[in-house]
Amino acid sequence: MSSEEQDTVKTICPYCGVGCGIQVQQGEEPGDVRFMPWGDAPVNEGRICIKGGAATEVVDHEDRLTEPLIKEDGEFREASWEEAYEYVVDELERIRDDYEPDAMGFFGSSKTMNEENYLLQKIARRYGTNNVDNCTRMCHASTVWALRTSLGAGAMTNSMADLEEECDLFWIQGANPGEQHPIANSQYFRQAVLEGATVIQVDPHANKTTRSFQIDDTDRHQHLQLKPGTDIPLLNAVIKTILEKHEEEPEAGWIDEEFIEERTEGFEHLKETLEEFDKEAAAEECGLSLEEIELAAEKYAMANNAAIFTGMGMSQHACGVDNVQNEINLALITGNVGRPGTGVNPLRGQNNVQGTCDVGAMPNVLPGYQLVDDDEARESVEDVWGFEVPDEPGLTNVEVSHEFGNSVKGLYVMGENPVMSEPDANSVAERIQELEFIVVQDIFMTETAEYADVVLPATTWAERDGTVTNTDRRVQRMRGVDKVHENTKHDLEILSEVGCRLFGPENFEFDDPEEVFEELREVCPIYHGMTYDTLGEEGLHWPCYEPGDEGDSYLYADEFDTESGLGHIEGVSHTPPDEVPDEEYPLVLTTARLEEHYNTGTMSRRSPTLNRQIPENFVDVHPADAERYGIEDGDEVTITSRRGEITVEAQVTEDIKEGVIWTTPHFAAASANRLTNDVLDERAKIPEYKAAAAEIEVG
Ligand code: SF4
Repeated sequence: MSSEEQDTVKTICPYCGVGCGIQVQQGEEPGDVRFMPWGDAPVNEGRICIKGGAATEVVDHEDRLTEPLIKEDGEFREASWEEAYEYVVDELERIRDDYEPDAMGFFGSSKTMNEENYLLQKIARRYGTNNVDNCTRMCHASTVWALRTSLGAGAMTNSMADLEEECDLFWIQGANPGEQHPIANSQYFRQAVLEGATVIQVDPHANKTTRSFQIDDTDRHQHLQLKPGTDIPLLNAVIKTILEKHEEEPEAGWIDEEFIEERTEGFEHLKETLEEFDKEAAAEECGLSLEEIELAAEKYAMANNAAIFTGMGMSQHACGVDNVQNEINLALITGNVGRPGTGVNPLRGQNNVQGTCDVGAMPNVLPGYQLVDDDEARESVEDVWGFEVPDEPGLTNVEVSHEFGNSVKGLYVMGENPVMSEPDANSVAERIQELEFIVVQDIFMTETAEYADVVLPATTWAERDGTVTNTDRRVQRMRGVDKVHENTKHDLEILSEVGCRLFGPENFEFDDPEEVFEELREVCPIYHGMTYDTLGEEGLHWPCYEPGDEGDSYLYADEFDTESGLGHIEGVSHTPPDEVPDEEYPLVLTTARLEEHYNTGTMSRRSPTLNRQIPENFVDVHPADAERYGIEDGDEVTITSRRGEITVEAQVTEDIKEGVIWTTPHFAAASANRLTNDVLDERAKIPEYKAAAAEIEVG
């Protein structure tokens, strides 16, 4: 068979939230799966980063799980699907009978598709618990909370294409698209910058974003290299500068008075919060000069269209909701929302983290962000499903993990790896052993699957059909080639079988992903107008309320999706990180991801191309700190926090601010999450990955 004759399908890269289209070609044998570019893919037009290009390497990896496994006397043995299903269903029923439905936790995954997460959360609700969550809890739960509460939808207000065309100032705070969203950065943002847009980067770390825009080398751009956890004082200083300048020059357009008057509420509260605010003290707290903050404020306020990009440097704090609220405040007082090229735009980390939230794999919302404790919304979903849903929000995944062995006795994990992804990972590994029953469905024996009682072998991204939703709300179809291993099953097939065995076929028997999508659109208003046919190859941006809607490239043109229809401004005050440096732990440890790896590395560490680039973890140390500790570039160093230690290679570099060390969570042998703090944002329950007190020593 010539390569032209071989089957080729158009699908979506399984890694980051940009949602690049790629093609996958089926070779002559199952497992012979090749990457091919998709030249006119809607998001990336054929461009691809190193991760996307290497994505097929894991499909036929020798570590793939190929048979169901059951643990007996501490060892896994192969089992039939029948035996595995029976065991899973018996244990789920036993836990519900011995305790209560809330004794189970269900973890969905942004590595899996909309239909799969929809079905998992439906199983959890039918089981009688809202303890269902996904990894958005670890990345943007606070962003979703703030955006949903203050603007209406927990998603990017704008889209990458309209930002490229219309934006003339990018305010990038706590995000590093040059590393984590490479194609968005190189294709959309870089193009806008080449055409004259300005970049203000706010980050303790100089990184690929800094270098891609040559931020340090021009008068046009700025890098505000603040201390971790000082985003609120920084933004308050920016906002206060804008308000003061408006007092001095009311006609100059520092704020948008008409927009504030007609489209927002809470402006007086913001002004009151900042009345006694000391900008000089704030600048010192941030480790910046007041002049550079004031200059950045002027650039933002004077831009025609300014867009804020926000990432995990903002969201992963105990004050994550307040951090994002202050970005919303800045955008609303300057009228930078509801128009092309503006807005507050979270850059989502994983290929389907937006969709996993959209379809309701969260403890407080049903599909389409309908609140479980809103009677009318819940009843409208119950009418379609034909069963009652608990009316109180469930536990988030970190709260479930905190309850292992206490109120939570069992765990159902689809495609997640909490033993590595959660903060204070050493104690997660201890606590998980307190559970009575764990089932994991995955493609590899993850660090979490090692603790499971049953492991169900799933298929990879390249073998399945379904939909995913990218960072700018574009719902796109994924299409699969042949299964590599005969006795693996698609996640949807596994969930459907478990659901049917637990509750009967009425609600859980589905022939294919499209049938699930048809039900999803019935209960999810923002997806209601989409079908597999209308998604086609281009996909559609939500909201798409009725068939024929083309979706919105930007939101809130006329009104916000809040109860009052107004954008909500609310002043916020600085909350320092839970742990600040002291004598014992005098450094601030912060963490972030790399272009070459992906979250807990389950896939990327098994990719020869990616692993060759960066095979192990490292830490960035400022030269002044290196001198103080006697560290040379390339030395082996041990980092300790109150929760554990890791040993890694030191990179001595001015990329990081003095007093701060920076490392990554990707490598099992030395994961940053053995050190991170599991304190949570009170409302969004996101952990504070971005600031922990730490010490470092050679050796
Ligand atoms: Fe995949 Fe993201 Fe790279 Fe695009 S930018 S190829 S979606 S990892």
